[in-house]
Amino acid sequence: MAERTIEIVEVGPRDGLQNEAVEFSTADKLRLINLAIEAGIRRLEVASFVHPKLVPQMADAEALVAGLDDRPDVIYLGLALNMRGVERAAATRSSGRGIDEIGCVAITSDTFGQKNQGQTSAESLAASLEIMAFAKAEGMEAGVTISAAYGCPFEGEIAPDRVVDLAKRLADAEPCEISIADTIGVAVPAQVTDVIGKVKEAVPHIPLRAHFHNTRNTGIANAWAALEAGAVTIDASLGGLGGCPFAPRATGNIATEDLVYMLQRSGVETGIDLDKLISATGWVQGVLGRQTPAMVSQAGGFPKAAAAEKNAAE
Ligand code: ZN
Repeated sequence: MAERTIEIVEVGPRDGLQNEAVEFSTADKLRLINLAIEAGIRRLEVASFVHPKLVPQMADAEALVAGLDDRPDVIYLGLALNMRGVERAAATRSSGRGIDEIGCVAITSDTFGQKNQGQTSAESLAASLEIMAFAKAEGMEAGVTISAAYGCPFEGEIAPDRVVDLAKRLADAEPCEISIADTIGVAVPAQVTDVIGKVKEAVPHIPLRAHFHNTRNTGIANAWAALEAGAVTIDASLGGLGGCPFAPRATGNIATEDLVYMLQRSGVETGIDLDKLISATGWVQGVLGRQTPAMVSQAGGFPKAAAAEKNAAE
């Protein structure tokens, strides 16, 4: 089997927690981040610099960033949807480590965009270009996510050409990567193969990242399709955080441990320790007071005793 490497971005502290009903304290968020780093994660979405009224779970962004370990081998990502957000992220760098990389969001759909981030598709594109230019001038890396790339709750089908068109325009800002996001968890693998393949063809010089929610149980299959189509980075959240059973239409990210299990057993290197991920999820479940949707944390990794017996028999 050919040696391959995939980078996993842990998005639990941001995408996961902002969709959880249980609020994590700043100290608990830092513990979550550090447990992921101990397990081998080297790139994490740690905060979102949005208005606290819109996303109260992210109101402690500055305090959280101030508490991050200053590790040279780790990249801390912050999300910004407008200039105010990227200015706040840049300000974290004036005292201490701060945010290393900015993520911004261009959305395919006008209706969803206006409801979700108060921007039409064109406005989110313009904002993203402006945010990335500013972030780079401030010495940060800057990447962009194309959200609702596989479907919209209001407009339905999203043509792959719409995603390709956004990718081409966003490429003008020379993002460090373009992430293709299944924001509402509707994608299926054939669609992922098609969309990621087309974007890769349109902007071959830009690394592609893939973001899935396991809303309809297609997330892990989509991740495999994304990898096969040429994505080099995949997002996941510890335990599949974000799938709160008390919220309507629960939409957790694909679980980091489920993704790592699939990749490792398939000969794809991630640099991540599965046992440490599973124990990190155990801690997360303690804070949440409930089980998370991740399946590998419930089942455990590949049975070690059985493997040893098999080796002895051979
Ligand atoms: Zn998401």
